[in-house]
Amino acid sequence: MRVGIGTDVHALAAGVPMHCACLSFPEERAGLSGHSDGDVAAHAVCDALLSASGLGDLGSNYGTSDPAWAGASGAAFLVETARRVRAAGFAIEHVAVQVIGNRPRMAERRAEAEAAMADAVGAPVSVSATTTDGLGLTGRGEGVAAVATALLTTARR
Ligand code: MG
Repeated sequence: MRVGIGTDVHALAAGVPMHCACLSFPEERAGLSGHSDGDVAAHAVCDALLSASGLGDLGSNYGTSDPAWAGASGAAFLVETARRVRAAGFAIEHVAVQVIGNRPRMAERRAEAEAAMADAVGAPVSVSATTTDGLGLTGRGEGVAAVATALLTTARR
């Protein structure tokens, strides 16, 4: 068994569509800015999968300035990352991700987020959320963070 950890942060910006945990939140007035769609939960999970498999990280795999991934969805990163992890000989057993921030409100859509992320990863994904009591960049509403873990096993030969 191998475990990995991943984190991500994106800034909140007015007028940007909110994408988080492979869901859209059209009611949100601010979204997550970035080279891609800013999906912090998906990016943290990708980094956890790459960490567990020893394949590096999002930056070394995709390049933050690679035009091929400009505007890419969180799901697209998850699908390709899971493919690379399996191609390296691992089975993805479970993933957990926690979204840290005031918005979007994840509680009502947690099951939907888990289903969407699990569909992209091809393995069970647990989604949770928390706030930081008004403290720090997430508490002040400047951005949203996420932290994820992944559990892999070496595929039987
Ligand atoms: Mg990111």
